[in-house]
Amino acid sequence: MTLPPSPDRRGLLLVVSSPSGAGKTSLCKRLTGEFSELGLSISCTTRAPRPGEEDGREYNFIDRADFEARVARGEFLEWAEVHENLYGTPKAAVMERLARGQDVLFDIDWQGAAQIRAAAPDDMVGVFILPPTLAALERRLHTRAQDSHEVITRRLARARGEIERWPDYDYVIVNDEFDAAYERLARLYQAERDRRVRNPWIAAFVSGLFAQSP
Ligand code: 5GP
Repeated sequence: MTLPPSPDRRGLLLVVSSPSGAGKTSLCKRLTGEFSELGLSISCTTRAPRPGEEDGREYNFIDRADFEARVARGEFLEWAEVHENLYGTPKAAVMERLARGQDVLFDIDWQGAAQIRAAAPDDMVGVFILPPTLAALERRLHTRAQDSHEVITRRLARARGEIERWPDYDYVIVNDEFDAAYERLARLYQAERDRRVRNPWIAAFVSGLFAQSP
């Protein structure tokens, strides 16, 4: 993917993946709440909204025909089938943010992460969130109480296969205690922002330093 030019900062693509119930969505919400320069990419999905979810906030909820038409028009940066539903990242919103030198956060699965890695290897930072135990994962899915028993059983059966993808990521965080896991995530995001390659303004700054010297 060719990134749009931004004079001061080169935005990063922070991709966070995990099996469902590992706490990824809460971690992502807190991160975007704390850092205004980081915006969450809102995906399109063919899944039905859960109680409490709002169209345009958690997802853009669209039907399969609409989703497939958008795929055909090349409107997704990446898309994948997850748990029998289609999910995709609209390209336009991501490119707009990057053009402003801002960062984008993606709460997407390993298939989407792999597609973004292929498209923008230098700009993606991948983080995988692990549950402390599989029992904790199951408990979280039940206490969330947003899915039917059947859906939870299906999601748990898939968790193992998803967890096996951890070596594809740059960072792995075990979400045993929420605040501690969040601190790790926030720290790594800040360090990644500070990488030299993401801060093209430094060259002009150094020229300025030299220009001031007697
Ligand atoms: P849920 O249905 O629980 O909201 O999400 C199911 C899975 O789909 C999660 O692992 C979530 O990260 C992933 N997902 C959400 N949006 C996207 C997307 O746009 N692309 C891909 N590849 N996965 C997504």
